[in-house]
Amino acid sequence: MNAMRHRALDTVACPDCELQQSIPPLVPGGSARCARCRVTIARNPVDPIGRPLALSVAAAVVFLIANTTPLMGLSAAGREASTTILGGAQEMWTQGSEITAVMVAFCAVIAPGAFIAFMLAVLLGATRTPAPRWVGRLLRMATLVQPWSMSEVMLLGILVALIKIAHLATVIPGIGLFAVGLLVVLLAVTSSIFEPRAIWSRVVWADGTLPPDLRPRRAGPGGRAPDSPWVSAHPGLASCTTCGLLSRPAGPDQLGHCPRCGATLATRHHFSIQTTWALVIAAAILFVPANAFPVLVSTTLGSTEPSTILQGVVFLYQDGSWVLALIVLVASVVVPLGKLVALGYLMVTVQRGSITSNHDRTRLYRLVELVGRWSMLDVFVVAFITALVQLDPLMSVAPGIGVMYFMAVVVLTMIAAHTFDPRLIWNPVVTQRSPRG
Ligand SMILES: [Zn+2]
Ligand SMILES: [Zn+2]
Repeated sequence: MNAMRHRALDTVACPDCELQQSIPPLVPGGSARCARCRVTIARNPVDPIGRPLALSVAAAVVFLIANTTPLMGLSAAGREASTTILGGAQEMWTQGSEITAVMVAFCAVIAPGAFIAFMLAVLLGATRTPAPRWVGRLLRMATLVQPWSMSEVMLLGILVALIKIAHLATVIPGIGLFAVGLLVVLLAVTSSIFEPRAIWSRVVWADGTLPPDLRPRRAGPGGRAPDSPWVSAHPGLASCTTCGLLSRPAGPDQLGHCPRCGATLATRHHFSIQTTWALVIAAAILFVPANAFPVLVSTTLGSTEPSTILQGVVFLYQDGSWVLALIVLVASVVVPLGKLVALGYLMVTVQRGSITSNHDRTRLYRLVELVGRWSMLDVFVVAFITALVQLDPLMSVAPGIGVMYFMAVVVLTMIAAHTFDPRLIWNPVVTQRSPRG
């Protein structure tokens, strides 16, 4: 049977806990979770290419509108100002915070734009049978750039900035703001229905051979074709972190390359613990100046007033918007601190070879990965307030030195969450179950 032949290819190693398991036949729209750690390991989308493609086209159009029309305008004492998304980064650059400006432009414009462009190319390329190799390369780029595409964080940042400015001047929301709102929805729906496995199964392999689904059938006994030379459900297989293919490694030390996507195979991220510790410690040190130095310096009629992250939270609270004060407090203080503590805890338990509460620790890791990006909120708030409130000599706002340290904390903790290998949590379990590995 055809289903028998592909059984081996439908075997995957869970990306989080490494348990090898075969994926049962899924109904259209269905999904499969890992038997051990419950992470979603496979989905069977109703229309794996057409729907994400239509959504990506829509996202591309909305992205162009969002970046070319004014986000919001402001009028005070007969003066008017307005800003676009890029205007937020531009004003930061002019005010001397070049590094932060580049990061804001990257997360607000470049990363979302690149993600949409990669997705369009991948999905268009995948309509060909078989899909050319560059489809796989671009899909890999799309996954790399996706965590840095922060349209939804930016949208919340714009709203907080609007409320902070509202008592200074009349604020007029622009078309760009509504476009950003729509873009956030389109991107969320696209990633929720997109299944990379469906694309990988169509891409030509690194050695130039056709994907197994398209290879001519060589029927063996009982109509069953022999397994691909690379893939079968045996222990000792290496799982590719890029495309998820299980393959037989070249050797015990140097595992070689994934036969499908060509990525270097490794049982664990290289130097995962050392790199993550270095990043966590650096971020913890930078967290001090991030909170001690002002993130915003406002000048009203000649008198300047610096404000730190916590002073900004107090300001929002006194202003009556305690919900926003709480959101900013959680995003800027609780989340970065929590991430540092959580990563530290995960690494200490991994280094001690702990075998208890593996499920909770895996869940904690996923939470750290998920919420990290929201810490960028205050950086966007500062960017858009700076871009809008330039009404010299009446009042003007400049970014403070603290915002650069703060951005560095967010970026370092995001990279730290990525360099930490969650499979390390299950290491003791894996070694006990398959000692020959
Ligand atoms: Zn798992
Ligand atoms: Zn691969």
